[in-house]
Amino acid sequence: MENEIVSKNFIEQIIEKDIEEGHCETIRTRFPPEPNGYLHIGHAKSILLNYGLAQKYNGKFNMRFDDTNPTKERSEFVESIKADIKWLGADWEDRLFFASDYFDQMYEAAVKLIKKGKAYVSDLSAEEIREYRGTLTEPGKEDPSAGRSVEENLSLFEDMKAGKFEDGSKVLRARIDMSSSNINLRDPVIYRVAHMTHHRTGDKWCIYPMYDFAHPIEDAIEGITHSICTLEFEDHRPLYDWVLMELGYKDTPDGTPKQIEFAKLYLTNVVTGKRYIKRLVEDGIVDGWDDPRLVSIAALRRRGFTPESIKKFVELCGISKANSSVDYAMLEYCIREDLKMKRPRTMAVLDPVKVVIDNYPEDQVEYLEVVNNLENEALGSRKVPFTKEIFIEREDFMEEPPKKYFRMFPGNEVRLMNAYFVKCESFVKDENGKVTEIHCTYDPASKGGNSPDGRKVKGTIHWVSAKYAKKAEVRLYENIVDEELGVYNEDGSLNLNPNSLTVLTDCYVEPDLADAKAYDSFQFVRQGFFCVDAKDSTKEHPVFNRIVSLKSSYKLPTNN
Ligand code: ATP
Ligand code: MG
Repeated sequence: MENEIVSKNFIEQIIEKDIEEGHCETIRTRFPPEPNGYLHIGHAKSILLNYGLAQKYNGKFNMRFDDTNPTKERSEFVESIKADIKWLGADWEDRLFFASDYFDQMYEAAVKLIKKGKAYVSDLSAEEIREYRGTLTEPGKEDPSAGRSVEENLSLFEDMKAGKFEDGSKVLRARIDMSSSNINLRDPVIYRVAHMTHHRTGDKWCIYPMYDFAHPIEDAIEGITHSICTLEFEDHRPLYDWVLMELGYKDTPDGTPKQIEFAKLYLTNVVTGKRYIKRLVEDGIVDGWDDPRLVSIAALRRRGFTPESIKKFVELCGISKANSSVDYAMLEYCIREDLKMKRPRTMAVLDPVKVVIDNYPEDQVEYLEVVNNLENEALGSRKVPFTKEIFIEREDFMEEPPKKYFRMFPGNEVRLMNAYFVKCESFVKDENGKVTEIHCTYDPASKGGNSPDGRKVKGTIHWVSAKYAKKAEVRLYENIVDEELGVYNEDGSLNLNPNSLTVLTDCYVEPDLADAKAYDSFQFVRQGFFCVDAKDSTKEHPVFNRIVSLKSSYKLPTNN
C-alpha cells in the first residue's frame, strides 16, 4: 500500500494554531464576491478553498455579496453567482448575506471612530488626497482638515449622510499615520459621498463605505474567523487589523477575524479579465458570458465540465503565496479523469461517408448489444441498430493508403466496432474526386467483432446506422486566444485564435442521444468527451460541445 503523506497547507497551519491558542473554537469562512460580473475559475478556487476549510474544521461557510460599491453592481449578477456557487457544491445553508445590510452598523462604526478622534472629515479632492499621500520614498503631508474637532467632524459627517454635499466634495478619513511606510495607513479614506441608487438600499444612502473599512466590519459582524483573500490585499492587512482593533472587535492582530492571503489562480492561454470578456461579448465574438470557450464557471458548466473535475483541479493547483500560472491542459486532464469511468462510450460520426454492405439484407435491422463502458460494468449496456447502410468517418477510408494505415481501403478487411468484419470492395467518387459511397461485404460469422476462424484484422472503426442515426451539430473548440503567440497583442488587444470554434453540422450520433438532456455528457469513441449544449440543443436539432479530446501529452506534475 502506498503511504499517503498528507501535508497541511499554510492556511491550515494558521487555522490549527489559532484554534490551539484559543483565538477561536472553530472556524467561519466566507466567499465575498462583488456582484459586478460572472464568476470564473479563479473564484472557484476561492469558493472551494473557503468552503473546504469550513468543512474540514467543522466550521461554517458564509456567502456574502460585497455590494458596498453601487456603481458597478447589478442584481443579475447576484443570481448568476448564487447559481454558480450552488453548482460547485458549496453550501452556505441559511447564511446568505449582503454587505449593504450592514450600512447602519458601518455608519455607527465611523461615528465611533470620530468620537475617539480616529477619523475626520476632509475637504480635499481625490486628486489632492493622492498628492498629499506621498510616495514609497516620501512621507505624506498632513491634511489641512485634520485638526477639526470631534464635534465639528460629527456634524459634518452627519451632513454628509444627510445629502448636504456633492459627490467628491467631502470624505471621511481614518486618522492613522501620514508618515507610515505603508501607504495604506496614510489616513485612508473610509467613507465617500456618492449620490447613487443602490441595488438593495435604493436611495437611502448617499454616502458609501470604502472596501478597506467595510470588509473587516462585515467579517466581524458575521463572526468570520479567517478572512481569506488574494495577495494584492497583503499590504492592506495592517489597515484591516487597525479597523478591528479600534472598533474593539479584537485586541491584537493575532486575534480573529484574521486576514490570510494566498496567490490568485492564473491559467495559461485563457482570458479571465472581466474587461476583456465584456468586449468579446459585446463584439459578438463569443455568444455570451457562458460561451464554452471562456472559463467563467457558467461557461465551464456549459462546455461540460463537472464540479468534481473543477474541485480536483483546484486541489492539484494547491495553495501558495507565490503567483504563478497553471497549464490549461491540467484542467483538461481533470475532466478527462472524471468522465472516463462515469460516462457511456458511444459512437458518433462527425465527418460522415456512407458505406453500403452489399451482402447485408435490405430491410434487416439488428440491435447489437454494446457495453456502455468496458472499464465500468455498472454502466450496463445498450442496443445499437445495425443496418445495410452505415456512416463511417471520412478519414477512416483511404483510396491509396500510406504504410501502417490499417483502416478501410480497397481490398482491406476491418472490424466495425461491436459489429462485424467488413471488407472494402469498391467505392464511388463524384466529379470532384470526393468519395461519396463505399461498398463492402460483411462476414455474418464475425458478429460481435471476432471471426470464428481466428483471422485477425488490424483496424477497428466506429460507425452509425444511416437509417437510425440522428443528425446532430457538433462544436469543436480551441483556445479563444492564440496559444503560440500569446494572449495579448502589443497594443493590449486580444490575440484571437481564428479557429477557436469549428461547427460541424452534418454529424450522426446513436439514436438514443437525441433524448439526452442539457449538460448530459458522453464519450464519443475515438473523438473525445461531448456534452449537450444547454443553450442551443433541442430534440429536433441536437447540439454537442466537445469538452475535451481523448488524448493529451499532458503529464501530471509528480511533486504532489
Ligand atoms: P476579477 O477582477 O478577476 O473578477 P475580483 O477580485 O475583482 O476578481 P471579487 O468578486 O472581488 O473579484 O472576488 C471575490 C473573491 O474571489 C475574492 O476573495 C478574491 O480574492 C477571489 N478571487 C478573485 N480572483 C481570484 C483568482 N484568480 N484566484 C483565486 N481567488 C480569486
Ligand atoms: Mg474586486
